[in-house]
Amino acid sequence: MTESRDLLDFYENAPLLELGGEADRIRNEKHPHGVVSYIIDRNINYTNVCVADCGFCAFARRPKHGEGYTLSFEQIGAKIDEAKMLGGVQILIQGGHNPYIPFDWYLDLLRYIKRHHPIHIHGFSPSEVDFFAKLFRMDALTVIRELRAAGLDSIPGGGGEILVQRVRDIVAPKKAGADRWLEIMELAHNEGMKTSVTMMYGLGETAAERLEHLQRVREVQARTGGFTAFICWPLQPENTPTMSHQPKTGAAEYLRTVAISRIVLDNVPNLQSSWVTMGMKIGQIALRFGCNDFGSLMIEENVVSAANTTNRTTT
Ligand code: SF4
Repeated sequence: MTESRDLLDFYENAPLLELGGEADRIRNEKHPHGVVSYIIDRNINYTNVCVADCGFCAFARRPKHGEGYTLSFEQIGAKIDEAKMLGGVQILIQGGHNPYIPFDWYLDLLRYIKRHHPIHIHGFSPSEVDFFAKLFRMDALTVIRELRAAGLDSIPGGGGEILVQRVRDIVAPKKAGADRWLEIMELAHNEGMKTSVTMMYGLGETAAERLEHLQRVREVQARTGGFTAFICWPLQPENTPTMSHQPKTGAAEYLRTVAISRIVLDNVPNLQSSWVTMGMKIGQIALRFGCNDFGSLMIEENVVSAANTTNRTTT
């Protein structure tokens, strides 16, 4: 079943349990010991000020909006200390495309964290790297190298959404395009950095476009081997600027999408379940639809919660 059409037919038409069974078979080959991994971390969104105007984003605020913020180093340090006290081993640090922050601020922040609050820093998605490159007139490779030299450990797959330009032109036309997003990931991999990769679906794309996204990720992975984990989740449409009319997709579609992702991305080692958007029960069921990892027990999350999606759990 290597042809795109066969995959599309399987994704759209196979009985749910057949699709899940095939994904579970692949999961079992890769992770035969029945162990589900997870980490404790904290999502720190250093600023919500953003000029990218993504139609699906309930989190961002335009410059000069009364609810805009940028965290101080001390506020970020305190969040890290609290995370570490609760067993946190990593921070995910991402923010809006804020044109008022100079590049040195990011480098100083990374050095500050490593010096005073040492922890694994998973940060600055390809969309942010692209924004920095444009704003500070640098090439993306230099941006990556400087961030890494200052303390960045790995790069998150944020801003991937659907890696098909037709879709991005509609929902996020100001953000890194599909080719650019993948190019930046490949640059980072070639520098020896590991990254995760994501897919946010339900933006009005077709099933074939979801498959195209997965196949493009697979192609990069075949060249670099730099993606450690894939996670997908559906659009959370509430409170979004232009997508609140979009119907929320359900659990069956989530499980089908997880399963086809496991089948296509057979060269990506880990598939994470999105309990944060789907809830604990569907998150658990996804472990029989190709997932082997429960992602992160996030101490803090600000983005999907801005769209009124909040699930909580304890270790
Ligand atoms: S998704 Fe990111 S880049 Fe897009 S508007 Fe929100 S904060 Fe800005």
